[in-house]
Amino acid sequence: MSDKNWKLETNAVQAGWEPKNGEPRVLPIYQSTTYKYDTAHAVAQLFDLEAEGHMYSRISNPTVEAFEKKMAALEGGVAAVGTSAGQTASMISITNICSAGEHFIAAGKLYGGTVALFTNTLKKMGIEVTLVNQELPLEELKTYFKPNTKGIFAETIANPAMDILDFDKFSALAKEMGVPLIVDNTFATPYLCRPLELGANIVVHSSTKYIDGHATSVGGVIIDGGNFDWANGKYPEMTEPDPSYHGVVYTEQFGDAAYAVKARVQWIRDVGSYMSPMNAFLSNLGLETLHVRMPRHCENAQKLAEFLSAHPKVGWVNYPGLSDHPHHDRAQKYLRDGGCSGVLTFGVKGGAAEGEKVMNSLRLAAIVVHVADVRTGVLHPASMTHRQLTAEEQIAAGVTPDLIRVTVGIENIDDIIADFDQALQQI
Ligand SMILES: *Cc1c(COP(=O)(O)O)cnc(C)c1O
Repeated sequence: MSDKNWKLETNAVQAGWEPKNGEPRVLPIYQSTTYKYDTAHAVAQLFDLEAEGHMYSRISNPTVEAFEKKMAALEGGVAAVGTSAGQTASMISITNICSAGEHFIAAGKLYGGTVALFTNTLKKMGIEVTLVNQELPLEELKTYFKPNTKGIFAETIANPAMDILDFDKFSALAKEMGVPLIVDNTFATPYLCRPLELGANIVVHSSTKYIDGHATSVGGVIIDGGNFDWANGKYPEMTEPDPSYHGVVYTEQFGDAAYAVKARVQWIRDVGSYMSPMNAFLSNLGLETLHVRMPRHCENAQKLAEFLSAHPKVGWVNYPGLSDHPHHDRAQKYLRDGGCSGVLTFGVKGGAAEGEKVMNSLRLAAIVVHVADVRTGVLHPASMTHRQLTAEEQIAAGVTPDLIRVTVGIENIDDIIADFDQALQQI
């Protein structure tokens, strides 16, 4: 039985799956697309959203549901929706409240895939985004709002810029402008940061990263904070009858969870981008050790950042855990124990060509297009994850040509440091 007073560590292990007498103790993989009912009426009630239950695994599934419940408990939200990828979570978090002809604001320091999604694909759908310099003062940020602005999107710890979001400023901005603050909490995870407690209204994750934690499963999740007033006049799709669901009014029928229910029964239903049971099972398994893994990731990254900072062949290191980092105080304020995740970036003296040599010389740390799992890895964003961006967009996202992104795993830190040391000696 989950208990709302449980602490994060207990929820990570126990929340979500609640077996009844004689049922499997461990979350089973319900690898079934369909569900059996005794009467046609019972199924009709599901279609009308009058009863709760599973009808088809494009919309919900018991294994995914357990994962969703655990994520909602960890983030302190009222409901969650699993998605096939982090990209889908980001997309639906916007399209759920922002339609063609409307506009939203996004903090400039974002994951490259999110920039591409917002500036290309959503643009094609008629949704306009303004990427703002997130360090501007509140009054200046307000000038980017238009009458049709429907939301603000930002990352807790930006990938790979490592900027920490100024939650006080952004939540004040969102409140003043009457729009929800949507936060991508992928790098921080609910272990280091709980955005809903800092004024955010919706949280999204690429569960592919620390949630799964072992690089086995692409997935995403949207968590509804249940703390935004959709009836403020700006969101008629929430407060007026939905003709695609027999005139259901989300805020009336689903109260606090209106946003999550709408995301599921409109977007997930229509687009078909739900998490698979297998990936939910693995992501849930990953979550069981989230609170054990995250402190080690942070500790190892801190030590590697300190080692690289002192290394004569390293030009610069970017990790907010370093005391001279511009966002060090913000990290102390908003992240548990000031932990900044396992991700850091650095550049070697001599630039991109020398950096490539270092990457090729690493033995323990592999070159991988991934981040935030138990194994240490490196990536060169300018030629990989952020390749589709223009040179200006790369700089705006915090990606310089020489930047190497390290995802520090949970191996023994002495071995990790020794590996970087020998690779740096090759240049
Ligand atoms: C990886 C990532 C995404 C996209 O997630 P996928 O699961 O790869 O689709 C979104 N946001 C951040 C911060 C990421 O690191």
